[in-house]
Amino acid sequence: MSRSLALQVEDEAYQALEEQARERGVAVAAIGEEWLAAASRRAQAAAAGQCSFCGKGRDQVRQMVTGRDARICAECIAECQRLLQRSQDRG
Ligand SMILES: [Zn+2]
Repeated sequence: MSRSLALQVEDEAYQALEEQARERGVAVAAIGEEWLAAASRRAQAAAAGQCSFCGKGRDQVRQMVTGRDARICAECIAECQRLLQRSQDRG
């Protein structure tokens, strides 16, 4: 990644941060800390092989689908299917 592109991505991320802070009426730093905590939780869950959605480990679920940056267990896939079906039924 070129330096200018890296700066542009950082700038866009910061703008998203500012927008969220404005919408929620909180400080940019507070949102930044939440993002860092979430990133840390994701990294820990990934290292432990946990589902990125419910946090259950491999030994607690029947099946786990692994993507590039996330995992999802069979139960969460089923829940997602129910949610999608419900929103489809509403039209
Ligand atoms: Zn899950």
